[in-house]
Amino acid sequence: MKITDQVYLVGGAGFGYSASGDCNVYLVDGGGALALIDTGGGLGAGDILGNVKRMGLDPGKITVAFNTHCHFDHVGGNHDIKEATGCRIAAHEADNRSIEALDELSLYGMAQERGLSFKAAKVDTVLKGGETIKVGGASLKVVHTPGHTPGCISLVLREKDGKTGVFCGDMAGAMGRLGYINGPGFDLGDWKRSLKTLIGLKPDRLYPGHNTFLLGDAVEHLKMYDQKMNAAWTTIVTSVG
Ligand SMILES: [Zn+2]
Ligand SMILES: [Zn+2]
Repeated sequence: MKITDQVYLVGGAGFGYSASGDCNVYLVDGGGALALIDTGGGLGAGDILGNVKRMGLDPGKITVAFNTHCHFDHVGGNHDIKEATGCRIAAHEADNRSIEALDELSLYGMAQERGLSFKAAKVDTVLKGGETIKVGGASLKVVHTPGHTPGCISLVLREKDGKTGVFCGDMAGAMGRLGYINGPGFDLGDWKRSLKTLIGLKPDRLYPGHNTFLLGDAVEHLKMYDQKMNAAWTTIVTSVG
């Protein structure tokens, strides 16, 4: 599904667009080279590559697949997609070992309980945050936004029409929707700080790991989230939606 000139949705169980267990999987078309943002929960690797082809794009041009963080629903397709396309896997230095070992932080045990099973892949490009990665003519700036996991990253794309798009993984969602906040490696203090970082990027568009993406006014949705994060608990429980 083409979202903007340069951004496609190519997977997502939440949209019924690829296999069960897949987070939203996005593709950035840099012209000549492509980047994947996350690889889903493993079962959907074939669906994802099929969706890329259906968009008239060549999966062989995928040069890099970023993992926004180490959770199973974002890294499960790493092995099969890397094998099929020859792309490199890029992830933050605080999550890369969990991605390779599928340890507790990756929640792989939960994945297996849900009937998912996949092989891990080596992380080829270890990120620290602050880098800009070229994908053809497009540039993706890496921002370290820990909290959901220690090595969560957000990727900033200045799109051709001048709008700023941010791929934020599970850090945030539309309508200030609260995510999964009480697993291993989670840190609420970091999360609140990372949310301020995201707001500071002044995104027009938000491409989250779950649920709907936003084509405009993304910063307003992040401010809504920030309010919930910092509200009294009694207010939060009546505003979750
Ligand atoms: Zn997650
Ligand atoms: Zn997720």
